[in-house]
Amino acid sequence: MNKIAVFPGSFDPITRGHESVILRALPLFDIIVVAIGENSGKRGYFPLEKRMEWLRKIFAKEPRIRVETYSGLTIDYCRQTGANYILRGLRTAADFDFERGIGIMNRAMMPDLETIFLLSAPEYSALSSSIVREIHRNGGDVRQFLPEAMKELP
Ligand code: ADP
Repeated sequence: MNKIAVFPGSFDPITRGHESVILRALPLFDIIVVAIGENSGKRGYFPLEKRMEWLRKIFAKEPRIRVETYSGLTIDYCRQTGANYILRGLRTAADFDFERGIGIMNRAMMPDLETIFLLSAPEYSALSSSIVREIHRNGGDVRQFLPEAMKELP
């Protein structure tokens, strides 16, 4: 049986922190689906098409990483995709508290779906998409926080 993990998130934008979690998790799974959740009523800072384009470009050379979008419950999407794992990253105790709630609720709804957490690499533990957006919104240079493959963007 294929081990398929869904890494759900907004990726608005994807950062080196996300990239590092995905690449470190790759040996653990056969396929990782990086899935941008489309939150109804919540428009992203970067357009969805742009976020997809970046993800595709970053992982273009890795056939075991797929990039998709989804709406609705993450567990329903995992079921449709045939995924048996959710992948998430943990930076801080705040992440843990947040993820704990979601993980327990997801498990209650779909007991055979396990959430796997990877600790953030220390150098990325203060890095978040929201801080990158804030810097970008104010005209700062965010390139050092974004994957190498995004050098010319945004
Ligand atoms: P959400 O919109 O659900 O907060 P994000 O795109 O911000 O989604 O993050 C998706 C996942 O990536 C979460 O599990 C989050 O903890 C993890 N993550 C975000 N930034 C980092 C980082 N710098 N290092 C490790 N994991 C991270």
